[in-house]
Amino acid sequence: MRIPGVKTAKAFSRWWQARLLGGALILGYHRIASPVRDEYEVCVGSEHFAEQMELVSRRARPIRLSQLVQELKAGSVPPRSIAVTFDDGYADNLYQAKPILEKYGVPATVFICTGYAGREFWWDELERLIMSSRSGLHALRLQLRENRLKWEQPEVSPVAGSPEDGPARTQHYHALYRLLLSLDVEDQNHIMDIIRIWSGVSSDETSTSRGMNHQELRQLVEGGLIEFGSHTRNHPMLPQLSVERQRQEILSGKKDLEELVGKPVTGFAYPNGRATEAGKRIVREAGFIFACTSLHDMVRPGSDLYALTRFWQKDLEGDKFMQGLRLWMKI
Ligand SMILES: [Zn+2]
Repeated sequence: MRIPGVKTAKAFSRWWQARLLGGALILGYHRIASPVRDEYEVCVGSEHFAEQMELVSRRARPIRLSQLVQELKAGSVPPRSIAVTFDDGYADNLYQAKPILEKYGVPATVFICTGYAGREFWWDELERLIMSSRSGLHALRLQLRENRLKWEQPEVSPVAGSPEDGPARTQHYHALYRLLLSLDVEDQNHIMDIIRIWSGVSSDETSTSRGMNHQELRQLVEGGLIEFGSHTRNHPMLPQLSVERQRQEILSGKKDLEELVGKPVTGFAYPNGRATEAGKRIVREAGFIFACTSLHDMVRPGSDLYALTRFWQKDLEGDKFMQGLRLWMKI
């Protein structure tokens, strides 16, 4: 049997269990925005987001994630329960998402990466620099100490603005994104500095593809509908770091956020959704009560609270959004 959106045997088994056992859904979002480019499909337009939240409020039982975790622990989750989450803490979460969540009374948990407060995220800056630079790609020389970098430099590059230039830059952006993703924060910063100088492009302070600043973060949780979770300080891929570096990132992100709001932060989301046993242990020892990954599945009593599964949402109109939900939940 072929089920749309359920492509592998493992996913099929999760889907079948969901049909038999039921459970709750945790939805994942990043940005509520409609930029010209959205290479990794992390944006949902505000009209579509409003349609999605209207349906969640009317057809489901919207619930705060921390409350859902209490119900999971107690062993009983009412049917049609859906929790909404956001990762990273983009400024548009305040300006676009919050008014819509308030209009429909849908609570949400926003996982904040504190090192990017008021700053553009490195992956967005990378895209902006590569795509808008007039410098040739062949002139971008990347080096790390002790030759720790495997990077193949093209010998020639298309003329800036020529028909071949755009696709070449897109390809380069994806390769650099993968490269930077594999590095720890210090090396990422070093490579980004080289790219900034090479690009000749000015910093873009008006960009909305940045993290909320401290004042905006406080505004986000005003009213109590939205709660914070932590998402490390600098958003590294935790499984690639030493246990000590993982601990630094997990503890410092929590401390930053708790100082800002003056109360304990109990939820965590692994950057890029990747959890390891060591990472889960550090998160538990740090005092978090639950943590989210990016694996697609429902949650139900007995689910691992340090590897809660989520469904990433795309820029879909209400009908298509509902079709996706109905695959997993009787709603
Ligand atoms: Zn993230």
